[in-house]
Amino acid sequence: MKIGEAARRTGVAAHVLRHWHASGVVVPDRTASGHREYTEEHLRRAHVVRACQGVGMSLPEIRAVLTRDDASRAEVIGARLLRIRAQRAGLEAAERFLEHVIGCTHDLLTRCEACTEYARTSPHAATGGAPAGRPAADGA
Ligand SMILES: [Zn+2]
Repeated sequence: MKIGEAARRTGVAAHVLRHWHASGVVVPDRTASGHREYTEEHLRRAHVVRACQGVGMSLPEIRAVLTRDDASRAEVIGARLLRIRAQRAGLEAAERFLEHVIGCTHDLLTRCEACTEYARTSPHAATGGAPAGRPAADGA
């Protein structure tokens, strides 16, 4: 099928499909006249690319993951898994903090040991994502 139909079937704009082609993540066949020719397999691949982008993966990362013989594949997947696990730990800490803070009776969060402990142990605190001593409760 031509790129227009591939765009319609996947919900991915034609200019994005051309970018994905140039980036090597979804590389269509070429017709004799030189037009891009997409197969069902290319559409499935496009859906995988979108899913990977949805969890924050870059096109170079996705290309490495989808290319079985890519030298950096295991490294990219390992790094992404580490980040996902760190994000999960951060979300779980945020969940515990919010569950606590809704019933916290301290008028200043910094006077509460539990709140202060959250700020100290938050993954964001370690990476400088939030100022020390202030819980990352503002959605930052
Ligand atoms: Zn508290």
